Amino acid sequence: LLYNQVQDLKGTIRVFCRVRPFLPGQFRDQSTVDYIGENGNIMIVSPQKQGKDARKVFTFDKVFGANVTQEQIYADTQPLIRSVLDGYNVCMFAYGQTGSGKTYTMSGPDLTTEETWGVNYRALRDLFRISKARMDVIKYEVGVQMIEIYNEQVRDLLVVHGSNRRLDIRNNSQLNGLNVPDASLVPVTCTKDVLDLMKIGQRNRAVGATALNERSSRSHSILTIHVRGKELVSGSMLKGCLHLVDLAGSERVDKSEAVGERLKEAQHINRSLSALGDVIYALAQKSSHVPYRNSKLTQVLQDSLGGHAKTLMFVHINPEVNAIGETISTLKFAERVA
Ligand code: ADP
Ligand code: MG
Repeated sequence: LLYNQVQDLKGTIRVFCRVRPFLPGQFRDQSTVDYIGENGNIMIVSPQKQGKDARKVFTFDKVFGANVTQEQIYADTQPLIRSVLDGYNVCMFAYGQTGSGKTYTMSGPDLTTEETWGVNYRALRDLFRISKARMDVIKYEVGVQMIEIYNEQVRDLLVVHGSNRRLDIRNNSQLNGLNVPDASLVPVTCTKDVLDLMKIGQRNRAVGATALNERSSRSHSILTIHVRGKELVSGSMLKGCLHLVDLAGSERVDKSEAVGERLKEAQHINRSLSALGDVIYALAQKSSHVPYRNSKLTQVLQDSLGGHAKTLMFVHINPEVNAIGETISTLKFAERVA
C-alpha cells in the first residue's frame, strides 16, 4: 500500500510550459525560444551571452509552442480535470510574468467566442457534460467559489455588490472541505450560469485597479469548482474539487525603484510564490514536512496539494528578447518543482 501511495504521489505533479506568440507590433525577428522538442524540451537562447553559455535546455512534461490552440491546450489538461468527478482534488496554476499569457490560458481573451475560451469554461462545460452522461448512475451537484488573494488578504469575488471584507481560512474537514467557508458558494447547472458568475468575478477583481498598477497582475485569483456526487444504487457519496489559479505576475520588482504600496505588494507576491514553490518542491521530494503555513495561497489550497491530489503547473513564456531575464527565472522556478 505504501509503495502504491508513493508512486501515486510521484505522478501527481505535472509541469507544462506554454510559449506566448508575438503580439501585433512586437519585434518578432528575434525570439528567445530557439527550439521546442517533441519530448518536453525547450531551448532558450540568451542574446547577450556567447558560445555554449548562450543556450540552455529545460525539460518539462510538455511544452506548447506559440501556435498551439486553446482547444489543444485543453485536450492535454482534460484527463486531470475529469478526475474531479471521480473524487480527486485537482489544482491547476498559471505561472509567469505579467503579459506572458496566464489569463489567456485560464480564461481566454474574452468570453464571447467559444473557440478562444480558456481552461475554466472548457472544464466546466466538460464537467456538466460528463455528469449528465452519468446521470443514471451518479447524481452530481456543482458549486463555484471565486476568491482573490491580495497582500495576503482573502476576498470574495462573487458578492454582487463588491465587498472588501477579509475572509478567514479554516483548514477543517468538518466544514465540508471548504477552506474559505464564508466565501459565496454558488450552485451552477450550465455554462450560462458560469459565464454570468465570471462576469461578476471579473468586475469585482477590477475594483481598486488603476491604469498604472493593474490589480489583476498583483493578486492571485482562485476559481474553485466543488463537485459532490451521490451514487444512486449504493447511496455512497464522493467529493472532489478543482482549483483554477491565475497567479500574480512573477516578475521581480527592482527594490530600489519600488516604494510604499508597490513595494509591499511585490514583497507579498514574491513571498507567496516562493511559498508555493517550496510546498510543491517538498511534495515532489516526498519530504515529511510540507510548509503549507507560509502563505495564504498554500493554506487555502492545503488539502488539494499533496496526498491524493493532483497538481498541474502551467508556466508561461514571453518570447521577446527583453523578457529574457524573467523567462530564465520562470523556467528555473518550474524546473525546481518538475
Ligand atoms: P497575463 O495574464 O500573464 O498578464 P495575458 O493572458 O493577459 O497575460 O496576455 C497578454 C496579452 O497577450 C493579451 O493581449 C492576450 O490576449 C495575449 N495572448 C496571450 N497568450 C496568447 C496566445 N496564446 N495567443 C494569442 N494571444 C495571446
Ligand atoms: Mg492576467
